[in-house]
Amino acid sequence: MAVDRLRIGQGFDVHPWSDDPQRPLMLGGVCFEGHRGLAGHSDADVIAHACTDALLGAAGMGDIGTLFPDTDPALAGADSIDLLRKAADQLEAAGWKVFNVDCTVVLDTPKLAPRRHDMELRLSDATGAPVTVKGKRTEGIEAMAAGVCCYASALIGAR
Ligand code: MG
Repeated sequence: MAVDRLRIGQGFDVHPWSDDPQRPLMLGGVCFEGHRGLAGHSDADVIAHACTDALLGAAGMGDIGTLFPDTDPALAGADSIDLLRKAADQLEAAGWKVFNVDCTVVLDTPKLAPRRHDMELRLSDATGAPVTVKGKRTEGIEAMAAGVCCYASALIGAR
């Protein structure tokens, strides 16, 4: 594949911790039972959201807020893995192939390592390409511990 047919995309997302004890924590399509959840209109899955933006950015197809507005009542509590899958399907329909997506998630708890494989499987299934997830601590920076943020990079190519 010629290099000029490759595109890279960057995605970022952040959600604050929720005060609602009923709110589940969804990360990378995996529910972390018993852990405080994140606030948001959808299921607040920061990893899925960052991946979606990385893909859309790489293809020049806008961003997650344009495709799935957080003012849309139909998207309240939405499964963000579904949104990621829809975005990946739109890329494919537009002639793009996803090669891989790599994510860095910034948080202190929960520990991601025991569920890393589950998250990578769900994200890879949604994008149709390998997705990798790495965890990073907030290192005592208080503002960063007020929620969870995720950075994602995606590589795509024209089919
Ligand atoms: Mg989001």
